Amino acid sequence: MANIVIDRIKKSFGAVDALKEVSLNIGDGEFVSLLGPSGCGKTTLLRIIAGLETSTSGDVRIGGKSVVGLPPKDRGLAMVFQNYAVFPHMTVFENVAFGLRMQKADAGRIKKQVEKAAALLHIEPYLDRYPNKLSGGQRQRVAVARALAVEPQVLLMDEPLSNLDALLRLEMRTELKSVLQASGTTTVYVTHDQTEAMGLSDRIAVMFNGRIEQAGPPVEIYSQPATRFVGGFMGNPPMNFIRLSVQNGAVALGSARHPVPQFGGTEIVLGLRGENVARTPLEEGLRLEVRVAEPMGSHLLLTGTVEGQPVRFILPASETVKSGELIGLKPDLDRLTWLSPETGEALSRPTA
Ligand code: ATP
Repeated sequence: MANIVIDRIKKSFGAVDALKEVSLNIGDGEFVSLLGPSGCGKTTLLRIIAGLETSTSGDVRIGGKSVVGLPPKDRGLAMVFQNYAVFPHMTVFENVAFGLRMQKADAGRIKKQVEKAAALLHIEPYLDRYPNKLSGGQRQRVAVARALAVEPQVLLMDEPLSNLDALLRLEMRTELKSVLQASGTTTVYVTHDQTEAMGLSDRIAVMFNGRIEQAGPPVEIYSQPATRFVGGFMGNPPMNFIRLSVQNGAVALGSARHPVPQFGGTEIVLGLRGENVARTPLEEGLRLEVRVAEPMGSHLLLTGTVEGQPVRFILPASETVKSGELIGLKPDLDRLTWLSPETGEALSRPTA
């Protein structure tokens, strides 16, 4: 097992700065997701860790040793990619054994490791089959078993579930989590799917435009976003951002005034998750002008405006609200995020 230190990595492709000085420490046995929109640099960072791409500057250390300049095969890692290449002309057993044969492992070790990986991923019944006789999910498991069979120090995965249908994805996600917890493998996982990242990771590094905007445990990323980008990227619906005017260090939240962090501006942005509100009499809360009310079964989704600004809120399914109604909403005061309207960065909470 090994930790990974990504130390001020930069990568330019000609005029494109794909990575603008990225640093991240990944602990031994930790599962870290690189999450972000298309083009933010996730795959490039993963390929640099793998040794499939060279960085323009900076260092990558695995288990305390710099791996810059080392070919992928000497880095003690295994990879699973989106287009999981299982070899069609080999049985499942031979597919899983592939990495071990490359390492020139003896027959005893190959048998033991293949059986162990196959058991972990529940593919023992298919060891004699060829991949064209397997479902997509089973083939995906073969690819993961092949990576785990070599007992890598580090496992790198790039969108490994994206070819699967929604139900299989969910099933494989649960399996991956339990398999990797059992094996204790340090894992870096690239995805643009926030639900996947939230469910699987010990920590998530949210990337945007060649930088890591925030790295932390899923709950922290969700409830205490460091930037407007992170709050807006995570969550469904995304975090609401409402611009409010500041007077004497406080803003009006309905009839009450609430202190805000002091940063010298006349306006501040309130970051408020859709579910962190409750119904209240109109004169006491934020005034939501409901444009559309959608009963979702588990909850009621409201789309509308507060102070003329677009918002989405979630109320219990038992509430009855009609489109066009004006209702009062009381924010949960312990769960507010304050952000600078200029920089989009979160401001520290008021100390008072
Ligand atoms: P996606 O989710 O779409 O795969 P990503 O976050 O993985 O996106 P990267 O593939 O790392 O993004 O790409 C980061 C940036 O670098 C993009 O602007 C991309 O166009 C650029 N880029 C990546 N590879 C190359 C290359 N070989 N040559 C030139 N530009 C590249």
